[in-house]
Amino acid sequence: MKYDNILQTVGRTPIVRISKLAPEGVNVFVKLESFNPMSSVKDRMALAVIEAAERSGALKPGQTVIEATSGNTGIGLAMVCAQKGYPLVVVMAESFSIERRRLMRFLGAKVVLTPAALKGTGMLAKTIELAETHGWFMTRQFENEANADMHSRTTALEILADFEGERLDYWVTGYGTGGTLKGVARVLRERSPHTRIIVSEADNAPVLASGIPQPHNPDGTNASHPSFRPHPIQGTTTDFIPKLAQDAVDAKYIDAFVGVDGALAMQRSRELAQREGIFVGISAGAACAAALEIAKNAPKGANILAMMPDTGERYLSTPLFDSVQTDMNAEELAISRSTPSGQFEAAAAAPAQASAMQMRPDGEAAAFVESAVRDHAVVLFALKWCEFTWSVRRMFAELGIPYHSVDLDSGAFQKDDWGGRVRRALQARTSVATIPQVFVGGEFIGGTSETLDAWRTGRLSAELARAGVEVEAEPGDPSRFLPAWLQPRAAG
Ligand code: PMP
Repeated sequence: MKYDNILQTVGRTPIVRISKLAPEGVNVFVKLESFNPMSSVKDRMALAVIEAAERSGALKPGQTVIEATSGNTGIGLAMVCAQKGYPLVVVMAESFSIERRRLMRFLGAKVVLTPAALKGTGMLAKTIELAETHGWFMTRQFENEANADMHSRTTALEILADFEGERLDYWVTGYGTGGTLKGVARVLRERSPHTRIIVSEADNAPVLASGIPQPHNPDGTNASHPSFRPHPIQGTTTDFIPKLAQDAVDAKYIDAFVGVDGALAMQRSRELAQREGIFVGISAGAACAAALEIAKNAPKGANILAMMPDTGERYLSTPLFDSVQTDMNAEELAISRSTPSGQFEAAAAAPAQASAMQMRPDGEAAAFVESAVRDHAVVLFALKWCEFTWSVRRMFAELGIPYHSVDLDSGAFQKDDWGGRVRRALQARTSVATIPQVFVGGEFIGGTSETLDAWRTGRLSAELARAGVEVEAEPGDPSRFLPAWLQPRAAG
């Protein structure tokens, strides 16, 4: 196929059947939005809002475009603005991953960072201030009807065409702005009324499923929704109900919600990659998890379609890739040593040198570790979204163990690689490279397995008592705190 410009390649994404993860007799399909030119569903929205604004005159030739975004929207806009010749300013909290900033800058956008402490609302306030001060065009993706309209015109029609002559029983989607949800659902209701519309939401943040209306600040702006909790399913379920998502609720488009655990979403994403060869992000994993949940009770022969919003490549520095090592593991070394040539034995000095360099003492970081361990009875050196960290958090919460958490990947620790320095100082002290690491009363307990085990054996209770922490941590079985896929199978 030949095109005049890259924008013509947006949309018309393939639908692929998943064969191994789906239960027998039920047809589960995924629509791969990663086939868009910048590898996400947001290319559709970016193209639509810019072209709608061109048509209405809201965007003038050469005018600067500005938007607050953490990722896919900015990347899509950067592509569209580059092709059409609009300068783009993306406002982004400093805590979002570095590769996203670099991707947008690579496409010619300017990225203005806001302090992590100001969160989404601070990011938005800065965007509005800049747009008003300089007369820039704001795309307002959360309420822009052009976002939903594009999905009615393209995504929905693609789905109908691909299921022509067949019955689509369930359509499963998450929501960020709600553009996909509102735009596709409105067409399905009309032209495929038997299709049940299923929305996946982070199970710890049932913002829509709770039915609790969006609260507002006295000045009319959105307040944080009471059901929101941080979750790792990036790009979906923000801390407020976007207008487009609310429209879908009001129109009664949503037939059911499926709450998805963040760890399960990541697990499904890994399974899609490793068992189906389908490489997608975390929100796609969540939609897949929801679709498989629906499939469990679906009648034989049912057709289920789930939306896969983006590529897994956007998550290299997130917990999705936490368990993927960089160096050869024992199994890989064994493969390498199974034939004589090209082995790494001779070159082993190089990595050793590198790690010696990494281990160069860093007094400030080491002092920080020491004082954290000294000043708090229970300390958890953690990664915010690591499933193993959650395991420890869940156990501490249930047992009522108060603890101090040092979140090495939090916004405050990203500046100048402070989190990395503290992590290396911690490794130098404990000789353990993995996170989380737990200390009680200055004693190093270990990582997740050791800490969970310490509860089983009674060591945890003893150390807590020694440290003067009064809790009822009678020895017990901690296996339920492990990430879902590591738990004993009995519960199914
Ligand atoms: N998943 C990811 C990774 C996203 O970036 C987005 C968009 N924010 C969505 C899902 C949801 O799409 P929509 O905004 O159309 O609801």
